[in-house]
Amino acid sequence: MYLSAETRLKAILEGTGAGTWEFNLDTEEVIFNDRWAGMLGYTLEELAPISFQTWSQLCHPDDVQAAYLALDSYLGGHSPQYECVLRMQHKDGNWRYIHTRGAVFASRQGTHARWLMGTHLDVTEEKRRQRQLQQLAESLPGVIYTFAMDSQGQYGFPFVSRKAEEFYGVDADAAMANPQLLFDCIHPDDLPRVHESIITSANTLEQWSCDYRIVRECGTQWVRGTSQPERDPDGSITWHGVITNIDDQKRLEQKLEHLAITDELTGLYNLRYLLMKLDECAAETERYGTTFSVASLDIDYFKSVNDRWGHPTGDRVLQGIAELLRQRTRRADIVARTGGEEFIALMPRTGPDDARHLMETLRNDLAEKVFTSDSGDAFSVTLSAGVASWSEHTNAVSLLLSACDRSLYAAKHAGRNCVLIDSR
Ligand code: GH3
Ligand code: MG
Ligand code: MG
Repeated sequence: MYLSAETRLKAILEGTGAGTWEFNLDTEEVIFNDRWAGMLGYTLEELAPISFQTWSQLCHPDDVQAAYLALDSYLGGHSPQYECVLRMQHKDGNWRYIHTRGAVFASRQGTHARWLMGTHLDVTEEKRRQRQLQQLAESLPGVIYTFAMDSQGQYGFPFVSRKAEEFYGVDADAAMANPQLLFDCIHPDDLPRVHESIITSANTLEQWSCDYRIVRECGTQWVRGTSQPERDPDGSITWHGVITNIDDQKRLEQKLEHLAITDELTGLYNLRYLLMKLDECAAETERYGTTFSVASLDIDYFKSVNDRWGHPTGDRVLQGIAELLRQRTRRADIVARTGGEEFIALMPRTGPDDARHLMETLRNDLAEKVFTSDSGDAFSVTLSAGVASWSEHTNAVSLLLSACDRSLYAAKHAGRNCVLIDSR
């Protein structure tokens, strides 16, 4: 069946529900079709006499300028067609969003007049849904996003909600244009883990979930990213997900972790942590055939400090000794308060001579340190220590600790204020 071009065009326009308009750029003559008027609740007769002002009077005053700018951009060759979305007033008083598109046809019906011809589509419903989605995205306590990666590993963010600004300090549009901007904010220590987890999720198609830090000028913040991947027919993978702030939760976890391994009075490690590190050290020593040393320390006649100067002064002495231990040991050493006035120092990759020397320095420094009681009296305290190193006789943590205790007992027996080393 043959259909004329005019019939086909009419059918297409009716199918799309588009209104049409024609505007003579030289004479300002305008022509609208019925649908153009119907879209705003009018008949063409009701709008007669039709002129350029018919359009401008129905336009929202704030949008007329945008239409002129779009037209200038098109006529100036900066955009391929004239296109903008304007509000136009319906007969019922409501504003409708109209998507208008057009292009110039230089000659019409044999004349040389320049006609701008185009369509109107009512996109009010689409706008409303868009706005609802945006409001929803903004009311969520996190950034919602879509992340896509093609089979060549090229990636991008087709969508990022505006909350990105609050979380990353990066504008959402900028992040969509350049995905690297968001990755650049990730703490360098966490970045490899983030990349690895994305690759794993891409390979397994299992949920991506990763905790990492965002570094900003105003500080570092822990976030958790969670998203569900799906493979598209072209082999690319798209994740839809959310990034939430878990800073409070992380800080609480870290605080609890710290509390669980720390002695409250002195801030040194506790016995639990020391035993864990001893096991690690023993395993490493067995694997690499190296050695390490342990020292048991006990304050001499500490009971008399309490008896003489009071318990609070005794506490301050314990704190002062802890401070000295921190200063005199090395970064890799682990020092724990393992009992009332007892401490253990674990010295990784340290032989007996160095360990003994370290403890001897500490003993000497403590003996010279002056404490002041709550009542203002100056006094000093001493310590005794037993040192033992990992060897074929002490190749278990329990044996090593027993050897330390034996040496400490011998040091006490030898008159206190001395360091003895296990000599077996
Ligand atoms: P020695 O030289 O044989 O080690 O004598 P000592 O007095 O240090 O040993 P003893 O085991 O008889 O006494 C340890 C004292 O440590 C008893 C207790 O009052 C004191 N002590 C234990 N824990 C704390 C504490 O947390 N604060 C204070 N101020 N004193 C403590
Ligand atoms: Mg004791
Ligand atoms: Mg003691």
